[in-house]
Amino acid sequence: MFNISVLQEPETLESAVAMLKADADLRVIAGGTDVLIRIQHGGDGWSRLLSLRNIKALEAISLREDGTIVIGATAPFAKIFLDPIIRKHLPSLAEAAVSMGGPQIRNVATIGGNICNGAVSGDSASTLFALEALLKLESEDGERIIPIHEFYAGPGKVHLRPGELLTAVLIPRSSYQGTGGHYIKFAMRKAMDIATLGVSVICRVQDGRFEDLRIGLGVAAPVPIRCAEAEAYAKGRPVTVATCQEIGKLAVKATKARTSWRASKDYREHLVEVLTERAVLESAKRAGDLHAE
Ligand SMILES: Cc1cc2nc3c(=O)[nH]c(=O)nc-3n(C[C@H](O)[C@H](O)[C@H](O)COP(=O)(O)OP(=O)(O)OC[C@H]3O[C@@H](n4cnc5c(N)ncnc54)[C@H](O)[C@@H]3O)c2cc1C
Repeated sequence: MFNISVLQEPETLESAVAMLKADADLRVIAGGTDVLIRIQHGGDGWSRLLSLRNIKALEAISLREDGTIVIGATAPFAKIFLDPIIRKHLPSLAEAAVSMGGPQIRNVATIGGNICNGAVSGDSASTLFALEALLKLESEDGERIIPIHEFYAGPGKVHLRPGELLTAVLIPRSSYQGTGGHYIKFAMRKAMDIATLGVSVICRVQDGRFEDLRIGLGVAAPVPIRCAEAEAYAKGRPVTVATCQEIGKLAVKATKARTSWRASKDYREHLVEVLTERAVLESAKRAGDLHAE
């Protein structure tokens, strides 16, 4: 039995933020794939819920005139995977979307829930880091837009203020135009498993050289990370296997991997090196200019 005493189901964002302001004990539920498990396990403080399901405007995916892609926070992963805007402009996010859960989970689990649960293994996180996504957060007191890397506070923790909702994920045109990208999820089995490591790469290649490279890693540290040293090394270097191997090695330096029952620290570091190299090579190929030696 689920111990739910109140279920608010507002139809507009305005009424949702007003309800959250009026009742500090209300907790947000979107797809419920994390929340319902928490409640089933007895989850203290989760008996008064505000559901986002009836706010249809929050599900939309659109392309603004200035080229910004707007992904509504309650867009489920199945919709993200199938959406023509995402498939055309953000194919690595489509790869991440289809890698999570199974069909039933992808039909209900939302991108907003994947971000707001703060899980470092969330399949959207590394790609959204590589894409330098912005998060739109709204409450009765107004809205703020922050880079995704400022949102993650620690394992399972995010900087969501009281009464605040994540309403959209924004990807500016400058983050994706002319790029190639690739997401690799490494898990113990091919489906229905949480990532042991998630690697997502976005790059631009000009005349056979890396113009821009962004590497997002999930499960390589307590929060999703970028790999500054590896990214800086790549700039201006030829797109060769040797360059990609060095990028893989440098990516390990950014990590703070730890041993867990899923994998040892050494194994995770090995995965970071090898899978980053692979993801960079494939992204460069997709960017259209590979001169592998
Ligand atoms: C069988 C199974 C398999 C799974 N496999 C994967 C997997 O492969 N990869 C993966 O990444 N995850 C996986 N998950 C975890 C889960 O499905 C995802 O994290 C999912 O994206 C959560 O989204 P949701 O809409 O269901 O979130 P919910 O459960 O509704 O909410 C999650 C958290 O986010 C908060 N929240 C949700 N939306 C908002 C919002 N818009 N604003 C503010 N706060 C909000 C809630 O209050 C809650 O704290 C799996 C879960 C199950 C049950």
